[in-house]
Amino acid sequence: MLRVFQSDLFEPRRFVVTLELVPGREASGRAVDAVMGIARDAFADGRVSAVSITDNPGGNPSLSPDVLGHEIFNIGMDVIVHFTCRDMNRVGMESRALQLARMGMKNILALNGDYSGQGFGGQGAPVFDLDSVQLQIMLDFLSERLAAAGDPDPFFAGCAVSPFKQTEAECFAQYAKLCRKIRAGAKFVITQLGYDARKFYELIQIQRYMGIEVPALGSVYVLNPKSAGIMNSGRVPGTVVSDKLFQRVRHEWTDSKAGQAAAVERAARLAAVLKGLGYRGIHIGGIHRRFDTVGLILDRLAQIQNDWLSFVSEFNFPQPDGFYAFAHEFGSEPGPPAFGRDTPPTHVREILLYALLSKTHDAFFNHDHPLGPLFHRMAQRMDTNIGRQLLKELVEDPAKQLLLHCQKCGDCGIQHVAFLCPESQCPKHIRNGACGGSRNGRCEVYPDRFCIWFRAYQRLHQARRTKDMVKGCVPPRMWELNQTSSWLNFHMQRDHQSSSNPIALRCKAGECKL
Ligand code: SF4
Repeated sequence: MLRVFQSDLFEPRRFVVTLELVPGREASGRAVDAVMGIARDAFADGRVSAVSITDNPGGNPSLSPDVLGHEIFNIGMDVIVHFTCRDMNRVGMESRALQLARMGMKNILALNGDYSGQGFGGQGAPVFDLDSVQLQIMLDFLSERLAAAGDPDPFFAGCAVSPFKQTEAECFAQYAKLCRKIRAGAKFVITQLGYDARKFYELIQIQRYMGIEVPALGSVYVLNPKSAGIMNSGRVPGTVVSDKLFQRVRHEWTDSKAGQAAAVERAARLAAVLKGLGYRGIHIGGIHRRFDTVGLILDRLAQIQNDWLSFVSEFNFPQPDGFYAFAHEFGSEPGPPAFGRDTPPTHVREILLYALLSKTHDAFFNHDHPLGPLFHRMAQRMDTNIGRQLLKELVEDPAKQLLLHCQKCGDCGIQHVAFLCPESQCPKHIRNGACGGSRNGRCEVYPDRFCIWFRAYQRLHQARRTKDMVKGCVPPRMWELNQTSSWLNFHMQRDHQSSSNPIALRCKAGECKL
């Protein structure tokens, strides 16, 4: 089994380079040949620790990263397989993880994934049965099972994070979820793409502040006018290319040779800045035809890396009114982040709804409340066919439909999202924190709505309970409870929070300082 990426990541003298490759929509032909050619050249070059293969990027079908990764693996190049939660339920995901283990490919980048795109006959059904934190936990549990069956080599799974969010709420949500991913077992972090050195440094500082020691790789991309335009328009969820940068790239490419040279130089300089800031490596994207460009970037990096401080000012493309958690002083002790200092006021309707629902919930759905044993006895009495039906149809469903647009999942998760429903309000049904696709507080999928986690932060901030987003983690929804009474399921200890659920026990542990 190849473990080049893992061992390079923990070799302090090595600055790790990974290379993201995007398989095309065909099983053979030019696109596949190009990817295989780049991988072969990367292996021959020796400076790339692993190639990472995307998983149906943009939600659109492409050749499986598992099969392409396996071919690349067989030429001796280590591979990181992107593994999203979009296209399979937990059964399919577990089966896929076993398949990858069987093929010896255990480097995984665990992602929620972009929303569903267009496949055969139209848009695909979005699955999102697990979220990326729950996927990390699943891989950790699977590693234990593999070890018990005689395979001592665990999955080596990492995660993504975006420091490039515009609002305070989104920044907090990203870092809170990062904390959960790390505690769930993530071994490395790869950033989203952005061109703001202060934000890149913010991630390093926040990791230190939270006590997170996993290695981080910063994303570097070979920008041309087409890719810069797509990212600038928001069509690649999570990436940030400002108007000013887009205009600059367009200008550089008025002569294509000069444009290519400028793109290589920008990538090398950003790599130098990332190395100087304390990143353990870089994750290079935007390479579609030949490996040569990667070689040029790495040659140039070797020449200029010691001058990194002089390049920092070139990566100064902030977002309008963008939030920064720390002052911009390299090498200084960061102090506490600025969360909560100038937070915009929360709408009064949100404050009232949160107050009503949190007080009600604390009184009626809390095993430790003095009335808890009484509610348990009442639930035991009502837990008959007729009792369940009457409670659900006459009381629970109408009340929750009115207040929460309830989808009757039977395994209520509102308490984890500041009393917003992750089933009806988040198209990816995420219970553990924001995906990377929000933009200026708006949802990736429905930009006319605020992201559920943006709203959750605002509610929790005014209630001084933002730490709730960092505590523990949330087990997966239990589909066997679908369309049943979540109230009875809670009091009868059948739901995801039950003390007999091993994932709930695991999720109880720990929190980060934030
Ligand atoms: S509501 Fe937020 S977490 Fe859910 S899909 Fe939209 S942007 Fe992502």
